Amino acid sequence: MTTTLTPEQALSTIVEGALRAQAGQPSRPNTDTDTRSQLAQGQDPFAAVVGCSDSRVPMEYALDAGYGDVFAIRTAGHTLGETVIGSIEFAVAELGVPLVLVLGHTSCGAVTAAQHSLDTGETPGANVGALVERILPSVISSREKGGTTVNEAVAEHSRRTVERLRDLSPVLHDAESAGKLKIVGAVYDLATGAVTVLD
Ligand SMILES: [Zn+2]
Repeated sequence: MTTTLTPEQALSTIVEGALRAQAGQPSRPNTDTDTRSQLAQGQDPFAAVVGCSDSRVPMEYALDAGYGDVFAIRTAGHTLGETVIGSIEFAVAELGVPLVLVLGHTSCGAVTAAQHSLDTGETPGANVGALVERILPSVISSREKGGTTVNEAVAEHSRRTVERLRDLSPVLHDAESAGKLKIVGAVYDLATGAVTVLD
């Protein structure tokens, strides 16, 4: 089984769920025990969401989604790597998701750390440095466009992550070119719960 939603319908479903959550009126779809047990037979999520590990951005709450709805990948600063891209490719190629949503969020600590690193030349040690390294180009790009705030860098990082996915993954690029997939960036507002879909 694969979802029957088109990329546009999948995005509308995400946006509608986010609006319900933002308004404090979630309908908590697909959270009942029957759905849970039926899903043991197999999954057909309608979106893959690549978001930040930040504890304040739990996807299913932020998007008012339930069991089996979103194929979720979370890393600090939604940084990409082989296994992350492989996970997204699996969702698209094997599960047939029509939408990949890159969900950044306001006041992201990982983006703030990258901004700090750019300004001071200090880089965090060990593997945390690898996170900052992957976010730095987005911060630089935001600065080049006149952005000075963390939230401007967050939006640029979300946009750039979308572009990176297209560039780094022929599977995703081809699916999008064929009209089977949409890759979209968005930013979640920690305080209001608003999800802003980027161009
Ligand atoms: Zn974050």
